[in-house]
Amino acid sequence: MKQRKSYRQEIWVDVAGESIKAALLLSDRRSMRLQVTPDGELELRLPLQCRERDIQSFVTAHQQWITERLSASKDRQARSSKAVLLLGREVPFVASALNEFLVTDTHIWVPENWDDEQRDRALERWWRGHSRDRFERLIDQWWPRFEVYGVARPTLRVKRMRTRWGSLSKRGYINLNMSLLSLSEDLIELVVVHELCHLRHFDHGAGFRALMSECLPDWRQRDKRINLLSADVL
Ligand SMILES: [Zn+2]
Repeated sequence: MKQRKSYRQEIWVDVAGESIKAALLLSDRRSMRLQVTPDGELELRLPLQCRERDIQSFVTAHQQWITERLSASKDRQARSSKAVLLLGREVPFVASALNEFLVTDTHIWVPENWDDEQRDRALERWWRGHSRDRFERLIDQWWPRFEVYGVARPTLRVKRMRTRWGSLSKRGYINLNMSLLSLSEDLIELVVVHELCHLRHFDHGAGFRALMSECLPDWRQRDKRINLLSADVL
C-alpha cells in the first residue's frame, strides 16, 4: 500500500477551556482522525485543505474523549515511575543496596545507583523472558486437551501488540501479547485457551463457544472482565 505524504507541525488547540499543544499531520487524506499517543501527546491527522476553524471545531466535538484520554495517560505515566502492574497486582519499585535487579511477588528491587533507563531496560528483559516462560507453561498444561484433535502444536511467539491480546496464525504460530503479564492469571489463561480453541474452530461461532465452555465453564465472565481492559496496558 502506498504511503501518504504528510506534513507535521505543532499547534495549540483549546480543549475544554485549556490550551493544549498538539501534533498536526496534514496529508492528502479525506477524513479527520485524532489520537492520544502512549507518550500522552495529542495527534491530529487531517486533510491538507483543512481550515483552522475546522480543526478547532473538530477538537471541540471530541473534547470529552480527549480530556479522558489525556488524564488516563498522565495517571499511567505517574504510576509507571513508581510501580508496575504484574499479574493483576501493583508491584512497587524499591531501591536496593545490592547490585542486582530482582523481581519478587511483592517488590521490584532496583540497584539504587541505576537511572530510570537502566531500570526500564532490565524490566523489559525480565518481562519478555518471564512472560514467555509463563505462557509456555500454560500451553504445556492445556496441550493434552487439544492434542486429541490431531493438530500440530503451535509455536509460541511473544510480542508487544497495541490492539490484541493474542492471535493464532494459520502458519502454526500462537502470538501472545507480552502485556498479558499485567493481568491476573485467570485472564492470561483465558487468552491462551481462546487461541488454542482456534486450532479447532477458526471463527467465534457456536462450535468455538461450545469448546470454550467445555474448557473453561466461566469463560464468559472472564471475557467480560478482559473486555473492560485495553491491550495497551503497559
Ligand atoms: Zn478469537
